[in-house]
Amino acid sequence: MSAVARTLIKDGTVVTAVDTYRSDVWIENGVITALAHPSQRAAFGQPDVTIDAAGKYVLPGGIDVHTHLDMPFGGTTSSDDFETGTIAAAHGGTTTLVDFAIQQKGTALRTGLDAWHQKAEGKAAIDYGFHMITTDVNDGTLAEMGQLVNEGITSFKLFMAYPGVLYVDDGQIFRAMQRARDLGALICMHAENGIALDVLIAQALARGETAPKFHSLTRPQIAEAEGTHRALCLAEMADCPVYIVHLSAPRALEKVLEARDRGQAAFAETCPQYLFCSFDDLARDDFEGAKYVCTPPLRPKEMQADLWRGLKTNDLQVVSTDHCPFCFKGQKDLGRESFAKIPNGMPGIETRLYLLWDGGVRTGRISMNRFVEITATAPAKIFGLYPHKGTVAVGADADLLVWDGDKEHTLDHANMHMRVDYSPYEGKTVHGAPTHVLSRGKVVVEDGRFVGRSGDGRFVKRSTFALT
Ligand SMILES: [Zn+2]
Repeated sequence: MSAVARTLIKDGTVVTAVDTYRSDVWIENGVITALAHPSQRAAFGQPDVTIDAAGKYVLPGGIDVHTHLDMPFGGTTSSDDFETGTIAAAHGGTTTLVDFAIQQKGTALRTGLDAWHQKAEGKAAIDYGFHMITTDVNDGTLAEMGQLVNEGITSFKLFMAYPGVLYVDDGQIFRAMQRARDLGALICMHAENGIALDVLIAQALARGETAPKFHSLTRPQIAEAEGTHRALCLAEMADCPVYIVHLSAPRALEKVLEARDRGQAAFAETCPQYLFCSFDDLARDDFEGAKYVCTPPLRPKEMQADLWRGLKTNDLQVVSTDHCPFCFKGQKDLGRESFAKIPNGMPGIETRLYLLWDGGVRTGRISMNRFVEITATAPAKIFGLYPHKGTVAVGADADLLVWDGDKEHTLDHANMHMRVDYSPYEGKTVHGAPTHVLSRGKVVVEDGRFVGRSGDGRFVKRSTFALT
């Protein structure tokens, strides 16, 4: 902790998932200790540090529950590590992330988890937690799931895609779900029928269809809808809560909607790339489309409206990034001869709030309160971070943004902090950015400058799943 004892954020407008009101925010020892109308200020004595938020909003820091930092994939490693990735996140107003630790097939969950603790410790500039990607479901790993839950790893991710690498079959999925139900853990699902998709990919390559756009054409939305439906059915059979990651397809969204309408504990996130990019980007000439290769793939532009509707109606609860950056030169390059060899993933840890504020709040698609809900409060609740994180409340961690809703800036990679040589949004001008980003009461970004410290981020033990 820094020596700063008492901070006042004065004259701002606090925005939570439900309320918008004028209030001072008082912070002591990293925690919010009082919310009070500015007229009451004299009663609180003198602060050590004052941040002027007049004309600005005070929001809970963003929570990004889907990131891949320092992750080996496709013969290379995602280009941001826990230092560069968390600093970039902080610049963009994200103050907590939940990254995916990976179990390598044939090894213990513990080995994968230890590796991720090592990657993060001493490097992360903001707080972080882990989900555990489980690639082997057997008696040993099922037992280990209990130990991990006790250590605050309360969500497990399974893959229906990537046969031979991350894929687990339905029996394994079902056993993991039963175990998760008993432990109060949540299952996150990559829901695409990877077995069938591998057939389509092999057939396309045999026809000489090697360009980036075939990444999307060989992963039709019905494969995602089928995987989503199957995940929901298995979860219902196991009576286990389930969270569909990176939902991109309207047909898959229909399945989530139906399950939720039946009262199932089913949740889904989408990502900015599915709201702001499309198949047209993937079809760009000169291998430029490789910059837009992520999985599930970008869909036809007209599908974006369905995702926006889902966000508005709460059929989609969260927007996270699936940040998994690979440089265009030297990494995306690996797939020049075959789209199947392009490392899957796009950078986004820094741009999530910018895009959703500019393209969501300012355009009237979602309210400010809904913006806070999908970027902070809902992920905090679903993933066991609430009430310490995800809202502005007395007793909560002072992970806060002073947000200038009008600040104009351009999303060029040269202006940003992710360690990647391109931006999917190069040249795009947006409005809205934080003037101050606080992590547990300490300013870590001020007027676009990082003033925090690598290693100050702490591992956060998350609670078990609870409907809140
Ligand atoms: Zn991912």
